[in-house]
Parts: sequence; C-alpha cells; structure tokens
Amino acid sequence: MRSYGIIDYHISSSIWSGIKHHIPSVTDNTCWQLGKGVQINFWTDSWVGDPLVDLLDIPRHYHALLQAKVAHFIANDHWLIPHSITSSYPNLVPLLNSVTIPISKTNDELRWIHSDSGVLSFKDAYLFHRPIEQHIPWAKIIWCDDIPPSKSCLMWRIMHNRLPTDDLFSRRGCYIVSKCDLCGEAAETIHHIFCDCCFSKDIWHWFASVLSLHVVTSTVSSIFDICNKNWNSQCKTVVISAVVNIFNTIWWCRNQHRFEGKSIHWRSAVNSIISNVSLSGNLSKKASFISMQEFIILKAFNVNVHHPKAPVIKEVLWQPPLYNWVKCNTDGSALGSPSLASCGGIFRDYTATFLGGFSINIGNSYALHAELIGVMNAIEIAHSKGWNKLWIESDSQLVNLAFKSDHIVPWKLRNRWFNCLTLTKTMHFRATHIYREGNCCADRMAALGINVNGFYWWDNVPPSVQGDYISNLMGLPSFRFH
Ligand SMILES: [Zn+2]
Repeated sequence: MRSYGIIDYHISSSIWSGIKHHIPSVTDNTCWQLGKGVQINFWTDSWVGDPLVDLLDIPRHYHALLQAKVAHFIANDHWLIPHSITSSYPNLVPLLNSVTIPISKTNDELRWIHSDSGVLSFKDAYLFHRPIEQHIPWAKIIWCDDIPPSKSCLMWRIMHNRLPTDDLFSRRGCYIVSKCDLCGEAAETIHHIFCDCCFSKDIWHWFASVLSLHVVTSTVSSIFDICNKNWNSQCKTVVISAVVNIFNTIWWCRNQHRFEGKSIHWRSAVNSIISNVSLSGNLSKKASFISMQEFIILKAFNVNVHHPKAPVIKEVLWQPPLYNWVKCNTDGSALGSPSLASCGGIFRDYTATFLGGFSINIGNSYALHAELIGVMNAIEIAHSKGWNKLWIESDSQLVNLAFKSDHIVPWKLRNRWFNCLTLTKTMHFRATHIYREGNCCADRMAALGINVNGFYWWDNVPPSVQGDYISNLMGLPSFRFH
C-alpha cells in the first residue's frame, strides 16, 4: 500500500500478514488529493469527500461500468462536464467547484483524512484504534512539576485502590485481623485511613481552617474538588501540594506505627506537611497577583509570595503600504477546535483609504484553516481586481511560516494554496506578521463572517470596523502588554 494505492506486485514483508485485515479501515478513511487526476476513478473513488456514486445515489449495478478517470473531465484547468451528465445530476457542479484543480500538475496522492499532513503515521494508526479516553479529573492535578514524583506516585496508587492495606490482603485470600494503626478503632481500608479515621479527620479539619473553606472528605476523590476552585497559580500549587502531602504524611504515619512501632501525633504530622509544602511553594516558578485569603494561605505554609514581573508595553503601529501598492490585513477566527469559524480581510491603499473588504463564514473548522482561507481569498481577490502589488499582513505566525514551508498547510487546502502561490509569482508580493493589537480591523471583519452566509464583500467600511479604521487612518498606535 503506497500513497498512490495498493501495489499489485509481490514484496516480502514480515508485518503485512498482521496488518492486511485493516485495509478496509484504511480505504474508508482516506481521500485522494487531486493532482493530474489520471489515477482517480471519477465516480467510485473518494476525492470530493465520499465517492460520487454515493453522493449522487447511483445504483450499485452501474458501479462496475463507471471507469472514467478525473483527468477526463478537466480541460485547461477547468471542469468540463458533458451536458448530459450535468442535466441528470444538477448537484454535481457545486460538488466539483468545491475541489481546487491544481495548476502545477503533480501526482494524485492518497491522504489520511484524520490528519492535517495527510500522512498515515504509526501514531495516527494508534490514535484511530485506541479506546476512547477516560476523563479522570484528578490525573492532571496530581502530576505537576512542583510535587516530587514519588509523592504523586503514591497518590496515583491511592486513587486506583492499589495500596497494601489490610482489606486488599484479605481480598487476595490472606486473612489477617485488621486494625487501623492510626486510631486502633476500625478495620483498615483506604477509605478509613484517609477519610474516616479520627487521625486524618483532625488533619483535614486543620487544613479546612487554614483555607477557611469546607473540605469534603466523603470519598478520596471528592477531596480534590478543593484544588479546582478559582485559585491563582502560585496558591493553586500550594493547595495541590498540601493535599498530596497530607495523603503522603498520613500513609507515612501509618507505616511508622506498623513497622517501627512509633506513634506520631497529628500535630507533628501537620508540621511535616507544612515544611514539605513550604519547599514546593517556594521553589515553584509560578507567580500571580493574589487575594488576601490566598495571602493568608501562603503564610500558613511559610511560602513567600512570588510577584509577577511588571508587564512590558510595546507600541504596535499599523503601516500603510508604499505608493501604488495595496495592503490586505487578514484574520481568521474559530472559537474551538473545530467550531464555527470565519475569516475576513480589509484592502487599503497607500493613503490608508478603504478599497473593500470581505467576510466569510467557513462553517465548522479550525483556526489555522480559517487564517489560511482568509489569506487565499485575499490573494485571489487582489489578482482578479488587477492589484498586482500586494502586501498581505496577518497576525498568525503559522501563516507566515506557511509561506516558507508548505507542510504547515493542511492537505485539504494544499492545492488551493499552491495555486495562490503561483498567482503571487505573477505579482509584486510580500507577506508580513503584525501583532494582534495592530490587526484590529481584520479581526472585526472576520468576526462579521459568523453572521453572513458564505462570502460577503463590503464596498464601504462596516460600522463595527469604523473606529479601528479611523485610528489606523490617523496613525494612532495600539499597545501590547506582555
Ligand atoms: Zn483509624
């Protein structure tokens, strides 16, 4: 199996027999990226999305007769579909128009639809077959840079019920008389040691009084709810570290009694917790503005407050282009990945006068796709209007990187991207980056895209862009804090 399909000659392979039964999943999850179109069956291969026979509901008994290649329907870089076909299938033309015919004739290539690069890597295959992830809310909390891994590890064993307590031994057939080492009053289970035991309860009460909050100790995992409150970063580290250290210290005290015969008072346990948390909190690199309540918590654990550095203020100035040049600022926006996305652009001349703008609703997509679609539209529009001196400016570093290396561009957009690059070779063209603060007009154009249907062209400055447009026109700077 290669990027151009399944090979029909023999090569010896030790792993083929193991993976060949996955061929149907591979063929169902790949799509052709159009090149010359000579290898792709127009009707039965996936290249528009699903195969055309499925999209157009062509009866199954005709499929074997449909042998035409995609190349047969392309002439001079345009679709050439016989009238008899378009009249029978009126939906066909819009489908074909969604596919970009590459100007430079490359080979057709099969692409894995679940990755942006289109390459089916070992990792992609694993991600495709692995079971759906469990969401474990405490997992991210216990593994953190400021807590020694040995302590996180004990925490992990507690959460998975994997500590060698007496009840675990009896479940495995080793019956012993069980008594809690800490209070001597109940049988030993993980739940008793950490939640119910009077020794632990004293420690949790002390902890709750330090936080001035109620700590729910009904189950081991409910204790972690306290870490998810709206703490600032340094205080959050201290709270998480305190919870993990309390668990560790309770277990240490239990072991001291059982194996060394030493009984430790809960007050001394608290002192050892404070000294450990103090170490984590002081060594942590996290810094933040804190509230009075958080200040008291940090002081209770002898942690010094890490003040954040004063912000550096940078002036960002939007520059008009040179005489006779046209500048287009573009932007894309997507709230999640993927989610409803839009993009937009604003064209201005050397006097910063508005030449036009566009807003596009892309539908469900990713932020990078939206940014790239904005840039590609800007290039295509400038070309069609004969603006041959074009300066594109975007606030996405990835877009600027895409001009230098193609592999950033997701394979679904690659043909159109290459066509745009070919267009730029016929123009005087430059692409630069500007900080978000200087790209406000384009940002607002993109935001307007959410409310339009498909593509919308603005002949006048839209009201919501007016303010930023004027401030660019007057050469007023914006400020960036970081
Ligand atoms: Zn007990």
